Amino acid sequence: MQSIAHFIGGEHHAGQSDRHSEVFNPALGEVIAHVPLATTDEVNAAVACARRAFPAWAETPPLKRARVMFKFKALLEENQQKIAELISREHGKVVSDAMGEVTRGLEVVEFACGIPQLLKGEFTEQVGGGIDSHSMRQPLGVVAGITPFNFPAMVPMWMFPVAIACGNTFILKPSERDPSTALLLADLLKQAGLPDGVFNVVHGDKVAVDALLTHPDVAALSFVGSTPIARYIYETGAHHGKRVQALGGAKNHLVVMPDADLDGTVEALIGAAYGSAGERCMAISVAVAVGDVADALVAKLAERARSLKIGVGSEAEAEMGPLVTRTHRDKVAGYVDAGVAQGAKLVVDGRAYRHPGYENGFFIGPCLFDHVSPEMTIYQEEIFGPVLAVVRVPDFESAVQLINAHPYANGTAIFTRSGAAAREFGHRIQVGMVGVNVPIPVPMAFHSFGGWKASLFGDHSMHGPEGVRFYTRIKTITSRWPEKLTAEFVMPTMK
Ligand code: NAD
Repeated sequence: MQSIAHFIGGEHHAGQSDRHSEVFNPALGEVIAHVPLATTDEVNAAVACARRAFPAWAETPPLKRARVMFKFKALLEENQQKIAELISREHGKVVSDAMGEVTRGLEVVEFACGIPQLLKGEFTEQVGGGIDSHSMRQPLGVVAGITPFNFPAMVPMWMFPVAIACGNTFILKPSERDPSTALLLADLLKQAGLPDGVFNVVHGDKVAVDALLTHPDVAALSFVGSTPIARYIYETGAHHGKRVQALGGAKNHLVVMPDADLDGTVEALIGAAYGSAGERCMAISVAVAVGDVADALVAKLAERARSLKIGVGSEAEAEMGPLVTRTHRDKVAGYVDAGVAQGAKLVVDGRAYRHPGYENGFFIGPCLFDHVSPEMTIYQEEIFGPVLAVVRVPDFESAVQLINAHPYANGTAIFTRSGAAAREFGHRIQVGMVGVNVPIPVPMAFHSFGGWKASLFGDHSMHGPEGVRFYTRIKTITSRWPEKLTAEFVMPTMK
């Protein structure tokens, strides 16, 4: 049985705790490794190591920090297939999808390569007579990232490339369900020339997270995961004086207007609802059918869902793999049971699906519900599986009100041929990321990623300009060089 190590100070360390978690191959349904769950002392050792590494790294010129990122980018490209296969092995998503995940993370590394430009400050000559002012952004110190299982490469790379390029040192606490990718990334960073201690990986659960949340030497925490934990991270971290960005769960709606290209919309919906088996924070889990489009939409969705190619990650043809664990598979099936019990019409039922040759795998087939209403559990809660709910509404106005009333507000989309409807939707919708004829509007690395309401706690989104702001603090220097300084006893004002 493989035992996964921590990575602290540039070296692998076997876990010292007597607690561990099992890592599965979801396609086989078998345990393939044990991951140690760090003790508070182990977390403290990692923080101490990152703290020691901070002064020299913060003093390293941004240009030199960027050069490490350039090398890391090249190594990511060389190793992309290997990383994707590792993701697929522990997460279950198909390799082609995992390749895309790595690319989206790599794009943040490319963004971080521009750090000398991004850290350029502001200067104003003559803010007063003979007085100049300049502002600069400086790193925070030791910062930590706590990440979910569903993107073991991309979500950590939303965080650490920007944090490190800004001059911070970093501790990653990856998901205990697919922890190996973090170690591969750590090895590549070392090969890229990153000094030891600048990037560390500590595996664990609540014990490790609490140690980071309360440690006086951790300046900031980035979190991505479910909403209850995101809220807890935000409240606890803020209580301990830390800067926190905590991204939570989602229930993303796609509005289908009567004038939409129906076939194209169905293709977009199928990919967005069932890709990665629905285990994406930007997956579409609700289709809002406006007016008389519903019958045709549901018929076409059902036909396409039934023909989805389910498979193990390595099968080139596969469009969707298993779920991450048996517990999660059973939870998703439980939601489908609840939907049926509460009166929604189950048009496509994937609960009984077993993949030939992989009968113990955590597979579930695509599920499609029609006539879902807002009081149902399958509408209110995030399912995080291949379950698409169709809600029928009479008009555009009802669609906007429906979405704005939902507590989650990560992403949404409208499919229409009307510029006016799209413009109105973008203007009025209370959601952080909006697509117009784009089903999963994930912002590029040089923009920032983040939802609203129960989908994000804290002030800053991830990566892009918001990422640089989050991982730095501003200092403004006002200076003058007079021949003679005189005492001033009143509030200085501009003369
Ligand atoms: P999760 O909340 O269970 O776990 C996320 C992280 O928190 C893991 O590292 C885990 O070890 C840690 N954790 C779990 N329980 C904890 C506790 N009680 N105290 C402290 N730490 C704890 O989430 P998950 O199941 O790994 O990931 C799926 C969730 O993540 C979904 O809700 C999904 O929407 C969300 N997600 C959101 C985004 C986004 O950008 N908003 C992106 C990806 C995933």
